[in-house]
Amino acid sequence: MKKCLTIALVAHDRRKADMVEWAVFNADFLSKHHLVCTGTTGKLIQGAYAEKGITAVITRMNSGPLGGDAEIAAMVVRKEVDLAVFLIDDLNAQPHEADIMMLLRQCRIHNIPIACNRYSADLMITSPLWDDENYRPTVPQYIEFHR
Ligand code: PGA
Repeated sequence: MKKCLTIALVAHDRRKADMVEWAVFNADFLSKHHLVCTGTTGKLIQGAYAEKGITAVITRMNSGPLGGDAEIAAMVVRKEVDLAVFLIDDLNAQPHEADIMMLLRQCRIHNIPIACNRYSADLMITSPLWDDENYRPTVPQYIEFHR
């Protein structure tokens, strides 16, 4: 594993409780890496970490509806993100749906692992592949299928 991964953390309002709980539960792992969050998500994680005396490097972008997802998507395009956890509120419409779709799409295009629920996030951060020197992720191909 790269010594320090850049991990993007984004949670919609009704998913923030889940995100903060997950980030605290996994603080041992996360505090060894660089966390990039949308504004409010980052503020809440910073607050929870401060309460528990956990030190972590957390960069806060704009709030999601004001372009935070778009800023993180731009980092994905520049290959500055290694892993993303994106807890989407699938039960309520968001004003920045286009930006949400963009972040998801850019992660797919640029082959960045993105977890949209805690289960996936748990599996991703505990994967032995991070430490496998011989593992090279396959790159998505956009080609026609011919039998
Ligand atoms: P927030 O943004 O962390 O600033 O609330 C998250 C989002 O809505 O994408």
